[in-house]
Amino acid sequence: MAEKLIFEISQKGKKAYTLPCWDQSKKVDTDKKFLRSEPIGLAEVSEPEIVRHYVNMSTNNHHVDKGFYPLGSCTMKYNPKINEKLSSMDGFTEIHPYQPDSTIQGVLKIYHDLADMLCKVSGFDKVTLQPVAGAHGEWTGLKVIRAYHESKGNPRKKIIIPDTAHGTNPASIVMAGYDVIELKSNEQGLVDIEELRKAFDEDTAAFMITNPNTLGLFEQNIKQIAEIVHAKGGLLYMDGANFNALLGIVRPAELGFDVMHYNLHKTFSTPHGGGGPGSGPIGVVKKLERFLPVPDVCEENGKYYLCYDRPETIGKVHSFYGNFLIIVRAYIYMKILGSDGLHKVSENAIINANYVKKMLEDTFDLPYKQNCMHEVVFSGENFGQYGIKTLDIAKRLLDFGIHAPTIYFPILVHESMMIEPTETESKDTLDNFINVMKKIAEEARTNPELLKNAPTSTPVRRLDEVLAAKNLDVRYEKK
Ligand SMILES: *Cc1c(COP(=O)(O)O)cnc(C)c1O
Repeated sequence: MAEKLIFEISQKGKKAYTLPCWDQSKKVDTDKKFLRSEPIGLAEVSEPEIVRHYVNMSTNNHHVDKGFYPLGSCTMKYNPKINEKLSSMDGFTEIHPYQPDSTIQGVLKIYHDLADMLCKVSGFDKVTLQPVAGAHGEWTGLKVIRAYHESKGNPRKKIIIPDTAHGTNPASIVMAGYDVIELKSNEQGLVDIEELRKAFDEDTAAFMITNPNTLGLFEQNIKQIAEIVHAKGGLLYMDGANFNALLGIVRPAELGFDVMHYNLHKTFSTPHGGGGPGSGPIGVVKKLERFLPVPDVCEENGKYYLCYDRPETIGKVHSFYGNFLIIVRAYIYMKILGSDGLHKVSENAIINANYVKKMLEDTFDLPYKQNCMHEVVFSGENFGQYGIKTLDIAKRLLDFGIHAPTIYFPILVHESMMIEPTETESKDTLDNFINVMKKIAEEARTNPELLKNAPTSTPVRRLDEVLAAKNLDVRYEKK
């Protein structure tokens, strides 16, 4: 066995950490029977062959570098390449989380300044960067809400959400130990104020809403909602995953929200999908600051350090200090755009969504007619008469090199199609999408079989989803 070395690294004012390491220079005695007797027969290919292999493979899947990706709710926007270049620099990737503070001053400054910028765009007093997903931020925020109510002698029992809530909201509420109460939306798809007034009592810890909501609509009565919630001693939580519509336009804390999570990987640009990677910081108002996770990054006379002095903290919610390289990307994104640039991001996202809405509202059902924010929700219901479902429309889009929008969510819209064009798409790209959608609508009327068999041009054709769900097989088999 190699010799075990122990390193001790002490942190400012904290106990020493012990790290086991292995000395690579020491010879390892391995039993002869495990040793290879002949060189391994690795395939040898030339550079052009290997490059072609990977380039071809990269085009089998759809991605935002290849074509339009109007996936609603999840803000799959274009992420500037400079983020990737800068965040992969050695100074960021080759550091160790137990390094002394004095050797990572630049890193700590990024944490410190990003938290500050996130406070500025949202109006909150304090931000923690520790949670590593939107859902994780929700759970952290709800733990803070619980700690606040506990400090007043009663954690309370339930949390109210509207029926448009993203699926992670009820899940996080349950994980935080609360009962979920669902509130029916009114005809405009917004919070029903009178229903909320009836439902919110002294046993309700908080009202948790997404703004703009998952119908892409701005909740107009937030001040009134905040009054109702606060009058009963409750707290108002904002799911900020749709913050791409509000940058530089609205600061949620000023509307009366007490806690909000940001999805850095959505609004502030990190390639994501397939479950990661993510970063879900939360911002809170002053009275909740003392419950936030530790450590925080503090600054004194231009020196940055990790600080732990928060006796009422809910504790750590993740190892080390969050998902660092996503934090770097968000920092670069905000620094490059500046406040004017961020404002334009949201303005363009809203204009693009309303353009698509206007151009397609005569072709597809539009259950909620008012102007939308960054996304628009149509229904494919009027094609039911030709035996066509929204699923068929989504699959047919793939044949035109366009990713399908989110479908069948939000669930209160029948056969829903949730389209989020995002801010970076040009008018040409949007016009092409609009024309394709109109063409598909025409095909649905004249040649429905074509849609039912779509996609016909992708490497993998339509999958049997019922079979896949009933006969789940997740093994990897080498063909
Ligand atoms: C994406 C999203 C979430 C969850 O974020 P994750 O990072 O995927 O955990 C929560 N709410 C809304 C509205 C979202 O769009």
